[in-house]
Amino acid sequence: CIINRNNLSSNHPLVTGTVSAHLGSSTIPSLESLNLDGHLSFKDIDYAANDFGNRYHFLPSVVLYPKSVSDISSTIKHVFKMGITTELTVAARGHGHSVEGQAQAHNGVVIDMESLWGPEMQFHTGELPYVDVSGGELWINILHESLQHGLTPKSWTDYLHLTVGGTLSNAGISGQAFRHGPQINNVYQLEVVTGRGEVITCSEKQNADLFYGVLGGLGQFGIITRARIALEPAPRMVKWIKVLYSDFSTFSKDQEHLISLENSFDYIEGFVIINRTGFLNNWRSSFNPKDPVQASQFNSDGRTLFGLEIAKYFNPDETIIMNQKVDSLLSALSCIQSTLFLSEVSYVDFLDRVHVSELKLREKGLWEIPHPWLNLLVPKSRIHEFAEVVFGNILTDTSNGPILIYPVNKSKWNNRTSMVTPEEDVFYLVAFLSSAMPSSEGTDALEYILTLHKRILDFCETAHLGMKQYLPHYCTQEEWRAHFGPQWEVFVRRKSTYDPLAILTPGQRIFQKAT
Ligand code: FAD
Repeated sequence: CIINRNNLSSNHPLVTGTVSAHLGSSTIPSLESLNLDGHLSFKDIDYAANDFGNRYHFLPSVVLYPKSVSDISSTIKHVFKMGITTELTVAARGHGHSVEGQAQAHNGVVIDMESLWGPEMQFHTGELPYVDVSGGELWINILHESLQHGLTPKSWTDYLHLTVGGTLSNAGISGQAFRHGPQINNVYQLEVVTGRGEVITCSEKQNADLFYGVLGGLGQFGIITRARIALEPAPRMVKWIKVLYSDFSTFSKDQEHLISLENSFDYIEGFVIINRTGFLNNWRSSFNPKDPVQASQFNSDGRTLFGLEIAKYFNPDETIIMNQKVDSLLSALSCIQSTLFLSEVSYVDFLDRVHVSELKLREKGLWEIPHPWLNLLVPKSRIHEFAEVVFGNILTDTSNGPILIYPVNKSKWNNRTSMVTPEEDVFYLVAFLSSAMPSSEGTDALEYILTLHKRILDFCETAHLGMKQYLPHYCTQEEWRAHFGPQWEVFVRRKSTYDPLAILTPGQRIFQKAT
């Protein structure tokens, strides 16, 4: 069900049917009769038919700008009470940074979660510190507020201008996940509005089935209106290091070694560079080569290279010990020494690093172009085969955007959440973060990238790699069933318990609203 910008319309077969026939005179006016703290808008709705992917554009009928949890609850209750007489669906929209229309609701109600100003963030600074935040809160705001208390969340995404509800509905994975697990494993409690409109508080001890269902649950069981996020003492500074490898085996061996250590770096990621020259010059603007003479002589010769990106957190009074520790960890690595680049930045600058690129891309008008992204989780035992075929045969360059690749420890993943991962102790996140650049030659960059992604997916399937998609996107229930595997039954059971009419989050295309 690849949909490109040219053939997008509100007539797409996946979302049409008889929706509009059921709306019109009765449904929307009856929504208008709700007594809300916030408001419904029938005009400011166009933005809700777009997302970061910029490929799917399904217009809702109305956007709810809630001012309270009760606004969300009464709206959903109202739709629920209409039962099968309406095809009206409801989608929470966080920061709209999905890439395949997951936060959209064709002819439905989109809830603008960022307008849900809950009570102020509430910090608890005991032995197990935490903060209570609104589900529509941006992670960047949580970072700034937490630092006022000398605290910080433990697990992040690479980009912080995303909402709590949006990332917790998926997983929230970055270079800290190998030691802390994803963001969904660093939450103590949630407040959720279910597909029946009930407001339920849940945690490991209270309504645990809903708690684990919602975490990684792709918005299927409820709308997260509040989350209790685990915190730890915040460091002030970060030693940030990048280094290259010319051989995938050595690269992955070193990555796996680093994530196996008890006392390792605080952040470990990796990336792939295919057929690109001169990229070390980019590093030079903000990083210093350990050996400037050797670094200036390095020539990639168009080889495929693998970059390791690592970071160690520290406070200024711990610089000496931190440097000793970093030197000792680096001495065990078999990287290309001349490509070792280092930098020291503030903790905030490190975590908010992608925002710097965002601002540059926005200036050039390159942030709003289509983003056909593909994120995969590949088991460790098959990653060499994957690398050989994908980086050796399928992709000829990495000029469409970064490719990230790094391993995580499954032992840090709580297997009670809805998120599915490969069946191995270690698996790799491989992220193809492509941008379909406008082309002066008139070639269709989007089609080209989508074809490459299809070849990668076809290879994973025919080779039976045991790969799972992250931020998954499928078109048929068979594919979803295969994605969830043995967890499908639980997923379906939770759906019928918490959202029996399939009102919530139609943009994931897993269930169809009952009519
Ligand atoms: P939206 O796109 O608004 O929503 C995502 C889904 O969650 C939708 O189905 C929506 O209906 C549902 N939803 C939204 N809010 C709620 C809620 N309160 N309750 C229930 N359901 C809700 N992901 C990573 O894991 N690691 C990364 O490093 C990473 N980096 C990224 C960098 C960029 C530049 C971008 C654009 C995305 C990145 N992502 C990353 C992906 C990102 O985590 C997801 O796309 C996430 O869903 C975006 O959050 P959002 O607030 O924009 O959610």
